[in-house]
Amino acid sequence: MNEFYIGILYIVPTPIGNLSDITYRALEVLKDVDIIAAENIRHTNILLQHFNIKNNLILMNKDNEKKQSHNLIQELKKGKKIALVSNAGTPIINDPGCILIKQCHIFNIKVIPLPGACAAITALSASGIINNRFCYEGFLPSRKKSRCDLLHSLKEETRTIIFYESKHRILESIKDIIEQIDKNRHIVIAREMTKKWESIYGAKASLILEWLKENKYRYKGEMVIIIDGFKKLKNYTLSKKILDTFSILRKFFSLKTSVLITAQIHDINKNKLYQYVIKKEE
Ligand code: SAM
Repeated sequence: MNEFYIGILYIVPTPIGNLSDITYRALEVLKDVDIIAAENIRHTNILLQHFNIKNNLILMNKDNEKKQSHNLIQELKKGKKIALVSNAGTPIINDPGCILIKQCHIFNIKVIPLPGACAAITALSASGIINNRFCYEGFLPSRKKSRCDLLHSLKEETRTIIFYESKHRILESIKDIIEQIDKNRHIVIAREMTKKWESIYGAKASLILEWLKENKYRYKGEMVIIIDGFKKLKNYTLSKKILDTFSILRKFFSLKTSVLITAQIHDINKNKLYQYVIKKEE
């Protein structure tokens, strides 16, 4: 039988921009705990000052997470109540804290998560993409080779895909999405959510790239990329106009050439069209 400790670790999400998005419960917890373990003391102090909260802050970031988790566990074993916060959004989601939580489970210390802001879920909710099934992939790798390999592996992922991205890499990443996934795949860029310059824009990947290139302010700040999942062929339908183009071309050209020209005329995926007409010609 494990020892029983009365200490509690609260996981406290904080706003991703608009401070009014903090919850009443989060404020109560931040006031009441003995210690707040923060990813960035200065950043969390701004939040606390805004809500007139004074409390003890301890730095826990990715550089000292292991050592600090050990220290915090000692405090929790003594019965202290600790709130874990990151710079913005839900701790753990691409933020530090997982080592501490694992340790709490090992030592039978109660972990209480509070619901609250998370950029990935906020973006998904506004994406307009059917999203009962989605996968969260965090940040795309910064190295081109690893990024392309990952995107390629997700080419036929049927769930909606969520990525975090930075303004420094967004153009490269969209180019890689076009190359590795599909220029026609619908994607949404949710930028600066809950802030003054919030924008949410969705279009097929090739258009998103043009749209971003037109104005550098369209990729300033923080952003989330949502990619529509791969649609299996059984759901794939083509308009009469496209099929008519194909039929006319097919009278004069080979199957492959007819597919290529039709795909170019209507700016659609040639592989999907090929598979579609093959089935019809069988
Ligand atoms: N834990 C956070 C959460 O729950 O969303 C995420 C932390 S991660 C280090 C930071 C990334 O989240 C940013 O680089 C950006 O991709 C995304 N992000 C955070 N705030 C955002 C916002 N207001 N609008 C769009 N994306 C945001």
